[in-house]
Amino acid sequence: MAILKITPDTIAEAARHIRAGGLVAAPTETVYGLFADATSAKAVSAVYDLKGRPRSSPLIIHVASIDMARQLAEFDRRSTYLVQRNWPGPLTLVLNAKSGSPVVSQATGGLSTVAIRIPDHPVALALIEAAGRPLAAPSANRYGKLSPTDALHVDTQFGRSLAMVLDGGKTRVGVESTVVDLTGPQGIILRPGGIATEVIEAALGSLGTASDSGAQRSPGMARSHYAPGAKVRLNALEPAGTEVLLAFGPNPPEGFIETRNLSESGDLKEAAANLFEYLHLLDRTDIDAIAVMPIPEKGLGAAINDRLRRAAAPRY
Ligand code: AMP
Ligand code: MG
Repeated sequence: MAILKITPDTIAEAARHIRAGGLVAAPTETVYGLFADATSAKAVSAVYDLKGRPRSSPLIIHVASIDMARQLAEFDRRSTYLVQRNWPGPLTLVLNAKSGSPVVSQATGGLSTVAIRIPDHPVALALIEAAGRPLAAPSANRYGKLSPTDALHVDTQFGRSLAMVLDGGKTRVGVESTVVDLTGPQGIILRPGGIATEVIEAALGSLGTASDSGAQRSPGMARSHYAPGAKVRLNALEPAGTEVLLAFGPNPPEGFIETRNLSESGDLKEAAANLFEYLHLLDRTDIDAIAVMPIPEKGLGAAINDRLRRAAAPRY
């Protein structure tokens, strides 16, 4: 894989590759995405194949402007209010698709809804603008594995099976977007992410809960996901075997063979930005498990704990 420095030329080259139906990995503010032309069945199909992702799990469509978003989905007062305040940013809305939308049905899992966002990253935006069309961009990793927050993570996962990654360094937010379903009378958080649930709640008033209907509403929210090679043990306060520690806060316990602290000061934003990088670094073959300290379930802690619970879930 070519790991490319970001210049006007490499962005233009990447956009040409995408317009021709190819796939390109590039940074967003959340994690690295695998960008493909969302108006091409062939390109979208290649995304599912390369990731090994089930075709029933729809992709998030990335656009560069609210005008572009309006060509793909029906906006009401709630969605307009939310995007005016949070786009560009790590907020994905699930909305009813607009008739005549150029997004191919393969990208939305054949649903009549579409998940859509404007990423807050100059490279992702430049790529969408240069390609001149909406781009599907799931995380640039094989299905179920750790998300990439660095160009090297992408290279390690895909190697020669992917032509290029634009190297924008470490991503700023570090966890995926918050996914909010606005197709019903009450907004529902389908996936906690880079914008805190509290922010969405303040904007929308009360929210429905994902637990009643989340699994059906959002195909692809698998229980085991974001998994490193090693086992993951949650709420660890002391070692239980040969373990490494993913710590949080000022006083991590001792006795682990290696420790990475998500945030010594207990800052949940900092912890989210470090989460996948530290899981990548702690993922060793000579350990019983990656032990993880308890992390508060507020702010970005909800997204961190969601990823960690899935990383620790039984695998198939
Ligand atoms: P990612 O794995 O980061 O690409 O996240 C995409 C997630 O967004 C999927 O796993 C789906 O659960 C959700 N999603 C995408 N499109 C839709 C849709 N049309 N309706 C409901 N959920 C969706
Ligand atoms: Mg993913």
